[in-house]
Amino acid sequence: MNIIWTRSIVSLVLLAAISAAIGAIAGVRAALTFAVVMLVVQACFSTFHTQRLWRLLDAPVYGEVPSALGIWGEIYYRLHKLAKRWHAQVRQVEQQHSRFIQAIQASPNGVAMLDDHDQIEWCNAIAEKHFGLDAKRDLRQHITHLVRQPDFIRYLNSHHYEEMLIMRGMGENRQRTISVQVFPYGEHRKLILTQDITELERTDSMRRDFVANVSHELKTPLTVLSGFLETLRELPLDEADRMRYLDMMDSQATRMQNIVRDLLVLANLEGDIRPPGDELLDMRAVFRHLEEDANSLSGGRHRIGFDVDDSLTVAGAETEVVSALGNLVTNAVRYTPEGGAIDVTWQRENDRAVFMVKDSGPGIAAEHIPRLTERFYRIDRSRSRDTGGTGLGLAIVKHVLQRHHAELDVKSEVGRGSTFIVRFPASRTALRKSLAA
Ligand code: ADP
Repeated sequence: MNIIWTRSIVSLVLLAAISAAIGAIAGVRAALTFAVVMLVVQACFSTFHTQRLWRLLDAPVYGEVPSALGIWGEIYYRLHKLAKRWHAQVRQVEQQHSRFIQAIQASPNGVAMLDDHDQIEWCNAIAEKHFGLDAKRDLRQHITHLVRQPDFIRYLNSHHYEEMLIMRGMGENRQRTISVQVFPYGEHRKLILTQDITELERTDSMRRDFVANVSHELKTPLTVLSGFLETLRELPLDEADRMRYLDMMDSQATRMQNIVRDLLVLANLEGDIRPPGDELLDMRAVFRHLEEDANSLSGGRHRIGFDVDDSLTVAGAETEVVSALGNLVTNAVRYTPEGGAIDVTWQRENDRAVFMVKDSGPGIAAEHIPRLTERFYRIDRSRSRDTGGTGLGLAIVKHVLQRHHAELDVKSEVGRGSTFIVRFPASRTALRKSLAA
């Protein structure tokens, strides 16, 4: 039997026993009066607490437990326990919900939820940015009233969402490309995921351009080579002509070899995620090497000066540094006409080692300077080709310097020569004294 029945029966039995005792002492009338009064008191007590409970359920105040005697005290206590458990559960669900929202907010992708009428129920900050929405202002708005691009409206209404939609001219400044995909869920609801693919598209098109450029660069010498081969095979040539053709074929083959060599160097640099090492370079040997190369390339047609601070060195990968600095020196020689001057310096500037190569060549117009380190970017195509250039030299320089956290600065004016400056960071710069130590 449950506690309510037990208590009610006990109190009735008690009332009956007391009434019987009163009846035996003071007569039946007194006993009945006592019983009726007690029953009325109990009915009033119950009615008071029923009403109190009613009010409590109507407007519960969490944490307030009314006190009462007997069974009502027990009821209030149990109700309080129940409310406490519910409160804890609600708090747990709220915390889960807010963690879930935080996770979606942290996502690099845009997320928007639409109800069964395509009205915005919720969206994260990235989706706001992609679609130009305001999550608070635009809540419950029909999404096609806000994202009005015909492509998007057509896609949303098509109900075929297997493929994603690419939207151009989106986001801030209308310069971003966004991929959008709809995922239906629940009862006619939709989840929209968006992703900014501007960079992806850019690298994709760079890759395509690169393949086209490489093919183009190799196509020309290959066409020339096969033309010569055909001539050699079909025309009766005397020995002198034959040698001339063979020489020309040799130079085309060398050109292709140089392109492939530089492409491999670039690929290795790009693919190498390891830092370039921190051995201190023997700059005296490096500059001896650069000077020999510059003089042999110039063949005495230029005045070449080297002003090198021997005590200054840098930490890095020797082959990479030699290739980068060497590229800048050979460029200066290759692009400077006969009789010109080339000055190379290696000096300390504050705590940084600075390499500078200054030539009296044709100079470079300002609009070309930011693009010089792009692969296959050339200003003077024929000069580049005639002097054995591949169009990849400065791209290699850029990669080597990036790996060494060094900066390239180009100062040039058309007709007034060019200066290529490389600044190594202080963290990689050292003095020979420390090399000896
Ligand atoms: P290339 O193999 O054609 O020399 P680079 O990447 O080394 O390729 O250089 C890119 C372009 O920058 C060159 O084609 C040339 O037009 C220009 N350039 C580089 N160095 C100089 C310089 N010292 N003077 C003038 N133009 C230069």
